[in-house]
Amino acid sequence: PARGQPVLSVKGAVKRFGGLVAVNDVSFDVVAGEIVGLIGPNGAGKSTMFNLLTGTLAMTQGRVEFLGTDISGLTQQRIARLGMARTFQHVKLRPHMSLLDNVALGAHARAGAGLMAAGLRLDRREEAQLLAEARHQLARIGLAGRAHELAGSLPLGTQRILEIARALAADPVLLVLDEPAAGLRRPEKRALGDLLRKLREEGVTILIVEHDMDFVMKLVDRLVVMNFGSKLVEGSPAAVRADERVQAAYLGG
Ligand code: ADP
Ligand code: MG
Repeated sequence: PARGQPVLSVKGAVKRFGGLVAVNDVSFDVVAGEIVGLIGPNGAGKSTMFNLLTGTLAMTQGRVEFLGTDISGLTQQRIARLGMARTFQHVKLRPHMSLLDNVALGAHARAGAGLMAAGLRLDRREEAQLLAEARHQLARIGLAGRAHELAGSLPLGTQRILEIARALAADPVLLVLDEPAAGLRRPEKRALGDLLRKLREEGVTILIVEHDMDFVMKLVDRLVVMNFGSKLVEGSPAAVRADERVQAAYLGG
């Protein structure tokens, strides 16, 4: 999609868990070429919203359009194949595999094949293609020189960055990140922020669910703030920072 065109459109999303309304009529757009942050105090409904977007949870009401297609009700795999890649709050790398193989598995996921098939039913040409793609993605994140180290031997910050490379190997239009800065040290956060800005320049659109205010404020073009399941405010980092309703929500939460 051209810069400024909507990539993701959330329309009146509602999610109920029994009597509890975790997401209450939330609407927002993510347009091509921007980094949008989804923030809010604990219990605001961010993770639930994330799960609705990525197909992990079914909506009670409302819809999500991705690149003009209604993806409400599609499986995670279908949504991924349309061009949405996600990372997980808890790193899901394969620690005993090399960096290169971890990223190659991400490239393989694009073809829609399951993990079980990886390394089992590939012919040599397919395997060579996957490894070339994986090398390209490792170079993109500055880890080409460490391709054969084990993923589990990396510090947490580097593992997060490797997870992003694995997601990128599927060549996504939209990258959805779940609290990527959680648990990272300051220099690791800086490296992560630099990488995400670089990806934005390369045309990747990014939606980031994040707890770390300092990190997110410096990074994003726009913020969507949730509180008690509803959208509280939407706007630039400066506008959100100055908003009394946001300050009150964070103090109260
Ligand atoms: P956040 O990520 O912003 O902290 P969540 O989306 O995790 O918020 O939670 C929003 C609300 O929904 C909370 O009150 C939480 O207890 C509730 N909730 C989340 N997941 C479930 C679930 N699977 N079953 C019941 N309640 C849930
Ligand atoms: Mg959460």
